[in-house]
Amino acid sequence: MSIDLQTLSISKAHSALVKGEYSAVELAEAYLSEIKKKNEALNAYLEVFDDVIEQAKAADARIKKGEATMLTGIPLAVKDNILIKGKRVGSASKILENYVASYDATAIAKLKEAGAVFLGRANMDEFALGGSTENSAYGVTKNPHDTTRVPGGTSGGSAAAVGANLALAALGSDTGGSIRQPASFCGVVGLKPTYGAVSRHGLMAAVSSFDQIGPIAKTVEDAEIIFNCIKGQDIFDSTSMEIQNMKHGTWNIKKITIGIPKTFTEMEGISLEVSKNFQESLAHLKKSGFVIKDIELPNVRYSLPAYYIINFAEVSTNLARFDGVKYGFHMAGKNLLEDYRNTRGLGFGPEARRRILLGSYVLSSGYYDAYYNKANQVREIIRADFAKAFSEVDVIATPTTPTVAFKIGEKSNNPLSMYLADIFTTAANLGGIPAISIPSGFAKREGKELPLGLQLMGAYGHDQTLFDVGKAFQAVA
Ligand code: GLN
Repeated sequence: MSIDLQTLSISKAHSALVKGEYSAVELAEAYLSEIKKKNEALNAYLEVFDDVIEQAKAADARIKKGEATMLTGIPLAVKDNILIKGKRVGSASKILENYVASYDATAIAKLKEAGAVFLGRANMDEFALGGSTENSAYGVTKNPHDTTRVPGGTSGGSAAAVGANLALAALGSDTGGSIRQPASFCGVVGLKPTYGAVSRHGLMAAVSSFDQIGPIAKTVEDAEIIFNCIKGQDIFDSTSMEIQNMKHGTWNIKKITIGIPKTFTEMEGISLEVSKNFQESLAHLKKSGFVIKDIELPNVRYSLPAYYIINFAEVSTNLARFDGVKYGFHMAGKNLLEDYRNTRGLGFGPEARRRILLGSYVLSSGYYDAYYNKANQVREIIRADFAKAFSEVDVIATPTTPTVAFKIGEKSNNPLSMYLADIFTTAANLGGIPAISIPSGFAKREGKELPLGLQLMGAYGHDQTLFDVGKAFQAVA
């Protein structure tokens, strides 16, 4: 039986599975055959698991018993920084070569309980540092819409897999845009949940005060289904909490007001095609009945420098544990110091080493106050800006990225220009608020249609508002 993967969504697959139109094994086989055809060219997966059919068989048994959940038998890709017990996992870094996870991340445990099928490990920028997947130790992932371009990053493998129908949905992680930016570049939906909504237990830490696991999917509805499965308070993550979701139907979606921070969205450096597409998206939102209102986020322009200082600081501390003694790659030296030097010098790629150095600098005595403390003060000011804005509007809209997907190699030798590509995404991580990227159309470049994305940010804990507005947007866009 041939399954049309292009138009498939989780709810469609679920209904076909429970009706017996095809089995979970057949669905998994359909994805495995696409992976076989396309993964060599795209490099979205670092590994396809050898027990996919076994997992699908277990899902079929559950469906037969009438015990299927919405996610039973749904084939997913998992970013290489999320632990699945007994599987290799390595944050696309050499320093974790041959490392095998000894437990399930909480998000994975919840998906297992729901009966999801894990297809394989998706490529990423090493330790979730980057914006193009070029920082993987295992080669760049290609954008399915134009293989000369990057898929975005750091969850580039996850987004490319979903965009190319090599998975029905995926898990990614977002520290400063790593779910939303690749989702935008690959023409799919990506959600960074409210900080704390999803447990970070079993997610390899990059920047603990920003990191969140979230879904990458083809529709807003699919992202919502996965989010509702993986969210929740967890005793293994003290920063996790139960967020109070607004329920459907208890409020009037048409009364929602969408704020546009013009000084931000009309900044220099945003490409013409992105600006034009953003105006079209606003027209669609108006057509759906939403009120559009200008707002001010006076300090949001400082989010990028503040984000990167905090990022470097936390990355340098979090990566200190990779010393070749406890796990992963080890290159012996004549003494302990040389051991560390060899292991970390050869095990980490250039971007990880750059951030460890810069992080050690901003945390060093004498510079701690000037940089790290200052950046944390800016974080508080940005949070206050958001709190004020969300007392006037329900949702804030911006483009997800300032340009379409860039060429492979275009920014890899210029870290600053790579960092600038995160201009719209980092603010939500500083604010701890939820943000979603939704496909908003295409721009033509060199005969290729390249996807663009609309970013919607919500108030703290209001992930559900983003789903509701996002679904209304997808219905008309
Ligand atoms: N591009 C950003 C960075 O390099 C975001 C990364 C992420 O969200 N993991 O830090």
